[in-house]
Amino acid sequence: MKKTYIALSLVFIGMMLIESYSFPSAGKLSASLKTAPLSYAGQGVNIQHQIQTTQPTDLYHTYSEMTALLQSLAATYPDIMSVSSIGETYEGRNLWLVKISDNVNQDEQEPGVLFMGAHHGNEKSSYEVCLYFIQYMVEHYDNASTPEVRTSINATQIYLIPMVNPDGVERDMRKDREPNHGSFGFRRQVTSYGVDLNRNYGQHWLYLFLFPYIFSGSTSWVDSSDVYRGPWPFSANETKAVRQFVITHNISLSISYHSYGELVLYPWGYTTRPPKDKSLFVSIGSNISTFDKYQVEQSIRLYPTLGDSCDWMYATQRIFAFTIELGTSYAPSDPEVLQNLCVNHTIVNLYICQRAQTL
Ligand SMILES: [Zn+2]
Repeated sequence: MKKTYIALSLVFIGMMLIESYSFPSAGKLSASLKTAPLSYAGQGVNIQHQIQTTQPTDLYHTYSEMTALLQSLAATYPDIMSVSSIGETYEGRNLWLVKISDNVNQDEQEPGVLFMGAHHGNEKSSYEVCLYFIQYMVEHYDNASTPEVRTSINATQIYLIPMVNPDGVERDMRKDREPNHGSFGFRRQVTSYGVDLNRNYGQHWLYLFLFPYIFSGSTSWVDSSDVYRGPWPFSANETKAVRQFVITHNISLSISYHSYGELVLYPWGYTTRPPKDKSLFVSIGSNISTFDKYQVEQSIRLYPTLGDSCDWMYATQRIFAFTIELGTSYAPSDPEVLQNLCVNHTIVNLYICQRAQTL
């Protein structure tokens, strides 16, 4: 009886916390923005760019191949593309940030958009979509038949962190590779390796202790778990680096690519309560869906989760942050399937650049 009483009190306190949470005021938005223009309605974008490597065994870039590709593109197109490192992983790999914009070395008063891939190292199509988009954009900037590329580059500051978790990618593993010292970092010995980076962001991170039965399937304090959230929020180098980049740049729209599920997800993942800007999320989400035909839903409908990047970006920075679950497998082996994911989401990304102009 006493236990029941304590449990009910905790649930009640938790509900109060959820309900009392409120946003910073909606400075960036106005009601007129809730209907989205859609000039890239499929036929407007002409994409014939082919993936360079078509050997099924060699379909996905390794970290070093990606590094070489990004550096060579930045060297070929220095006026519109730059590459810099925003941090280092536990194993010493650079976290590459790509910027594509006119006057790329200046911070301009243009809307910022951010695309990320490979929070989870085994979800390989998620970074290929970003690499394809980068290559397509810089190679078509001067192409008269793709004016939308030039318009987007000139009017937007496009940022990409194509591989958030290169240590995981190199081992084809979901988590990163840092050693864990027990659930909360107190043990002297190494007990396991790796943090699930998309559970390590700070928003509502502590709710797991209030509602373990709701969230413990999708996130865990057990350090050996595949969805281990780390000893504290932003404990991982990778999430720290993303956080630092995001809070120091003006980003209005973002997509974090994952695989798989054919879903376009918007916040919240921690509650069934709809976000304040639900109609805008649904409007942008349905336009994305016209290109990739994915289902649009609030992310908690996939499963309740805590500590993901989108909840944090929307709650703290008011960024319209989507998660897209690509395709029907973690890393499709058919080059044509991968090609289609890349082409469709290049169109999606172009739409996002265009949509950012009116946010
Ligand atoms: Zn994922």
